[in-house]
Amino acid sequence: MLSLGALAACQTKEAVPAEPVINTNKGLGLQTYTLGPELTQGDLSANLERIRKMGIKNLELAGYSATDHKVFGLSMEEFKQKADAADLKIVSSHVTPDVMMAGLFARPGAPAPKPKAFKDMVNDIKEFWKPVAEDHAKLGCEYLVQPMMPPMRVTNIEFAKDFANLLNVSGETVKATGGIQFGYHNHNMEMAKVTENSTAAVLGDLFAGMALGQDAKIIEDVYMDNTDPANVIFELDVYWTVMGQQDPVEWLTRRADRIHMLHIKDFMVLGASGAMNFKNIFEKFYANGRKYFFIEIEDTNSGKQFDRLEQSALFLNTSDFVK
Ligand code: MG
Repeated sequence: MLSLGALAACQTKEAVPAEPVINTNKGLGLQTYTLGPELTQGDLSANLERIRKMGIKNLELAGYSATDHKVFGLSMEEFKQKADAADLKIVSSHVTPDVMMAGLFARPGAPAPKPKAFKDMVNDIKEFWKPVAEDHAKLGCEYLVQPMMPPMRVTNIEFAKDFANLLNVSGETVKATGGIQFGYHNHNMEMAKVTENSTAAVLGDLFAGMALGQDAKIIEDVYMDNTDPANVIFELDVYWTVMGQQDPVEWLTRRADRIHMLHIKDFMVLGASGAMNFKNIFEKFYANGRKYFFIEIEDTNSGKQFDRLEQSALFLNTSDFVK
């Protein structure tokens, strides 16, 4: 029979909250952009091993150069060897077609390059992606993702449809050349609205978007409605979706068939802001039958990115809604 003292001790013990269970055997992924220069500082192989030890299994690269056909300054084969040695799977890679981005930073009054119209860019886009897809086939990756659009140029529905056509062409080319699935990744600017006649109410200017009226369409919807699901999948950046004043869960519900991957991102360290409803996001994502997501953290030149990544991985590894 327990003494009163022992009983009290038992009760006290029961009242102490359980230590969070750390599970490092989940499907965590990392968008390598997160680490900025820290990824290649010192010994790349040791850095990759450090990533793997956090429980991260999948990589999405942001380090390919179409100019010299290298990734992080290494040949595709060399980088794959190092990733293999660290037991990291290269699932995806972000690549921006330069030809599409000409004029991206043009401002009214500033001298701007004269880029081609989207309609005249189809062949340039095909030629851009062919060698990129060949290179990425050497990595064995499943996805090639375009990370952004030229926002200054998508100013009405017609331009958005023309851009969607380029995404379609990109998807066809990437699949035909490298057997790789093409995708598109959003920021907040795709959550802005356009109409047939709008000329300036983009760039995430949501008040201007509201003034456009009921015919206005969200740019991301124009892209989804005007691309073949076989050619173009979507990678939803949940943080930028929120920054665009949209609900990631609503997108995962309404566009379950189109959103195949996620960028899991917060203001900085994952979970620290309390602003992102990761539980609902992950639950809906898994319910849709999807699995690939990638941690992303901004401020890439901070010198603290490995530390922030470790804290973020710990958040996911102790969150029971993450598989
Ligand atoms: Mg992102």
